[in-house]
Amino acid sequence: MRIVGLTGGIGSGKSTVSNLFKAHGIPVVDADVVARNVLKKGKVDRPRLGQIVFSDPDKRQLLNRLLAPYISSGIFLEALNLWMKGCKIIVLDVPLLFEAKMDKWTKPIIVVWVDSQTQLQRLMARDGTTEEEAKNKINAQMSLDLKRTKADIVIDNTGSLEDLNVRFSEENLVIE
Ligand code: ATP
Repeated sequence: MRIVGLTGGIGSGKSTVSNLFKAHGIPVVDADVVARNVLKKGKVDRPRLGQIVFSDPDKRQLLNRLLAPYISSGIFLEALNLWMKGCKIIVLDVPLLFEAKMDKWTKPIIVVWVDSQTQLQRLMARDGTTEEEAKNKINAQMSLDLKRTKADIVIDNTGSLEDLNVRFSEENLVIE
């Protein structure tokens, strides 16, 4: 089974690319969904947790470190189930693929990249936040330009959704 890694920065278009894979019938394991399920099982008050870590990078880092093994094992189990069903190719959509060192499981690694101005504009439009809030969220992550250097494939999502569709098809990612 081929395990493709899909990552990028906040608002760079990971979910949009993951939807393209799904539209081609390729299953996607979404780390955010796995993380939510982990917290649900532990009956954690997520809005409260969000408040605690939102404005405190140290606490956010600690939370990420504490959750990482649970999220990795949740992703691993989902991947195992898909393998048992006979899937030949699956995609792991993991925002912190490099930070959590899950990149070693995946080949190729796709980084969805946009220029920083576009990232900021799209994030503000999607979340209805101020420029400052959006910048804080972007700066809390490993830089998208650094992630780009670690990729096997960079999908540039600075253009329109149509451009993205063309780039996606050009990479022939869904052909085994
Ligand atoms: P997050 O890390 O926050 O989950 P993400 O990387 O999954 O973000 P998306 O949610 O896919 O990013 O995209 C961010 C926003 O930009 C969304 O509102 C999406 O609809 C929009 N968007 C994505 N790609 C394009 C594009 N090529 N043209 C215009 N808008 C786009």
